[in-house]
Amino acid sequence: MSSWRDNIRKVEPYTPGEQPKEDGVIKLNTNENPYPPSPKALEAAAEIRNLRKYPDPAATKLTNAIASYHGVPKEQVFVGVGSDDVLAVAFMTFFNSEKPILFPDITYSFYPVWAELFGIPYEKKPLNSQFQIEPKDYFGENGGVVFPNPNAPTGIYMPLEEVEEILEHNRDVAVIVDEAYIDFGGVSAKTLTEKYDNLLVVQTYSKSRSMAGLRIGYAIGNQELIQAMNDVKYSYNSYTMNEPSILMGAAVLEDEAYFQETRKKIIDTREWFKEEMRKLGFTFPDSKANFIFASHERITAKELFQAAKEQKIYVRYFDQPRINNYLRITIGTREEMETLLRFFKEYIG
Ligand SMILES: *Cc1c(COP(=O)(O)O)cnc(C)c1O
Repeated sequence: MSSWRDNIRKVEPYTPGEQPKEDGVIKLNTNENPYPPSPKALEAAAEIRNLRKYPDPAATKLTNAIASYHGVPKEQVFVGVGSDDVLAVAFMTFFNSEKPILFPDITYSFYPVWAELFGIPYEKKPLNSQFQIEPKDYFGENGGVVFPNPNAPTGIYMPLEEVEEILEHNRDVAVIVDEAYIDFGGVSAKTLTEKYDNLLVVQTYSKSRSMAGLRIGYAIGNQELIQAMNDVKYSYNSYTMNEPSILMGAAVLEDEAYFQETRKKIIDTREWFKEEMRKLGFTFPDSKANFIFASHERITAKELFQAAKEQKIYVRYFDQPRINNYLRITIGTREEMETLLRFFKEYIG
């Protein structure tokens, strides 16, 4: 007997971090920003008049604002519903070779999910023993390259010279650099898009701009890359960007002072938190993101994860080979981190 079930596409979905429903939770498990977005966002929301109409399919206002903020022509900017949407469109657009695309074994766990969904062959390249990406692992023949910089969940930033080494050895495939965490201490590869017409740099409003709830991401790259992505986008949904996102996303870029202030607060809190964690016997790679990836000398990550959760402190734990003794801890406010440290001090003794 045949069944409609035989024709269902079976996929193993990405598992996002938990969004607890209970009150009074300290939520350090999904790398959200602890500060609200710039007040310009809500000012712009109050000006929304045109919800009756379809939004501008090109999201011109937002695209122009991002282009001008980054000092590139608007033809070099693609916007999407969070960088997850931007990355998915990029995978569909650029990864159509028979050869496998390459990404690290420990990285953003959405990459293999998209590859499976779109039928893209892939190969994982192990991080070295220090959890660093080895550029030379990406020099061989491949169907494309994608990695985050800083990498997630390690937080390790790869200097631009090494990103460029990867580009030098991959002139004939698309190379995607996922810069979700770049504003917390790294230097963006966007400047390299001038020199490398196969480089796509992807950024998001979800982390450094405190707007995960609005879903805005974008890519910067050569005009031909962006055009190709737009062609794919218009082939499945013209109206991805809603009116509130377009207006609020454009407005917050005018508030550079607020952006710099909140960004600095998180960086300062992170550096102080690193010191305190070392004193408690934790080790971790040096993070340039808004989280640290920490392991304790005596107590397992799994145990600490569960004990913290009982105290309504949520951090992220990955039950996966190589990283199952690490906790990914988002940098929240100073007060939130103090509460977490008090818990660790008491628990570890
Ligand atoms: C958070 C994150 C994203 C996705 O963010 P969006 O909210 O979809 O913009 C992409 N890549 C990495 C590495 C991330 O950590």
